[in-house]
Amino acid sequence: MAELRAVTRSYPGHPPVRALQGVDLAIGPGELVSIVGASGSGKSTMLHLLGTLDRPTTGEVVIAGHPVSQLTDRQLSVVRARWIGFVFQQFFLAPGVRALDNVADGLLYSGTPRRQRRDRAAEALDRVGLGHRTTHRPHELSGGERQRVAVARAVVGAPAMLLADEPTGNLDSAAGADVLAALLDLHAHGTTVVLVTHNADIAARAPRRITMRDGLIHTMTGADDGRH
Ligand code: ADP
Ligand code: MG
Repeated sequence: MAELRAVTRSYPGHPPVRALQGVDLAIGPGELVSIVGASGSGKSTMLHLLGTLDRPTTGEVVIAGHPVSQLTDRQLSVVRARWIGFVFQQFFLAPGVRALDNVADGLLYSGTPRRQRRDRAAEALDRVGLGHRTTHRPHELSGGERQRVAVARAVVGAPAMLLADEPTGNLDSAAGADVLAALLDLHAHGTTVVLVTHNADIAARAPRRITMRDGLIHTMTGADDGRH
């Protein structure tokens, strides 16, 4: 599904920051993987590379069999649109825009007609338990509801893989539990989920758990049944 092969990522500076120092990781279809680690250990960098939002300094990223280094930016955006959804700690919803349209906009560049975009957005909102909030604007929603709108937007195009970077980081525990439930439900229905979190209880829910330290995978425990 997604693979990092001997991936490094350095950010220029004096001295340069070696954010990833040689990571090998294969995420199989349908997996739920959690990633924990101290701030600055490279979690977000790794997730951005897995999501093709960034390119490695050395090494190769392979998404659905496509080595990312061999794709043009245009081809990459097609691969990304088809395979990958993102959720971040900040919700990044368009202010003043109804939940339905915030989610439907996730399909803007997919060539889906407007009417179908809305139908699929309504389904996606239903899936995260917000079928009754479609006409609410972000400021009329709680934090947990806003993040579930962001989850719905990330999955409205039915990506095979959802990458979530501390999606509960700005939420109280009850709201965080709702967001986690939405992610677990997507996983139960076949979506591959990679979840970066500070929360040990949330991390423990994942069959496979990765701990990052100093730009490297420090420990990896749990399911790795050789599917990939
Ligand atoms: P985490 O998500 O685990 O907190 P990051 O992947 O965001 O860690 O960052 C890893 C390291 O790379 C940190 O030392 C951070 O300061 C540095 N870093 C991240 N992004 C950039 C950037 N755009 N430019 C320079 N340094 C960066
Ligand atoms: Mg981070």
